[in-house]
Amino acid sequence: MSDLTDSFTTISQELKEKNVSLVAVSKTKPADMIEAMYKKGQFDFGENYVQELVGKQQELPEDIRWHFIGHLQRNKVKYIAPFIHMIQSVDSEKLLREVNKQALKFERRIDCLLQVHIAEEDTKTGLDENEITTLLPKLSQFSNVQVKGIMGISTLTDDQQKVKDEFKRLKTIFDHCNQSEFVQNSWNTLSMGMSADYKMAIEKGSTMVRIGSLLFGARQ
Ligand SMILES: *Cc1c(COP(=O)(O)O)cnc(C)c1O
Repeated sequence: MSDLTDSFTTISQELKEKNVSLVAVSKTKPADMIEAMYKKGQFDFGENYVQELVGKQQELPEDIRWHFIGHLQRNKVKYIAPFIHMIQSVDSEKLLREVNKQALKFERRIDCLLQVHIAEEDTKTGLDENEITTLLPKLSQFSNVQVKGIMGISTLTDDQQKVKDEFKRLKTIFDHCNQSEFVQNSWNTLSMGMSADYKMAIEKGSTMVRIGSLLFGARQ
């Protein structure tokens, strides 16, 4: 445990200097590990599974900012809508519409990121550049969500050049959207970079990294 605590201190210091936000990805890890990191000053945590997240949210301090980063089914939005801080994995207009509906119901505003499909390998999760361009003019319809940027997951590979190229593309798409008349000052979050590649992601312009195993230890 003390090794992991050290790595939190080192990484959070490094990110602070670079003005990059840290989402500590706590999926599969117990609540007491999250609480220990919270007590060291970490408020943003990322989870992938609705049921697991709801359980932890009930157990842990109320001022934790929870980020949903996994695939989200529309019929489950209602379970996290009362408390979720940011949904990073919005991969369709239909999902965005449902998030808005639930946010309205709970009289909240929910921050969202559009998940961009960038890695070659996985079965297509996320939007491509055309779909994003089509979605931007519609964002003003959604009164209770604020779309703040994009999220991308790089290909799991040892090929550093490939990962670098993917981060460059995400940054290009992010900048391109930023010039659109349909996004206002709220467009400020480029979420890319995980344990294995966060340094390179920051070099390429990431403003938010999602780090799990490097902080909490390997997952089963
Ligand atoms: C699990 C996960 C992470 C964290 O991965 P690590 O390699 O443990 O840092 C980041 N982003 C998403 C979308 C994830 O599912």
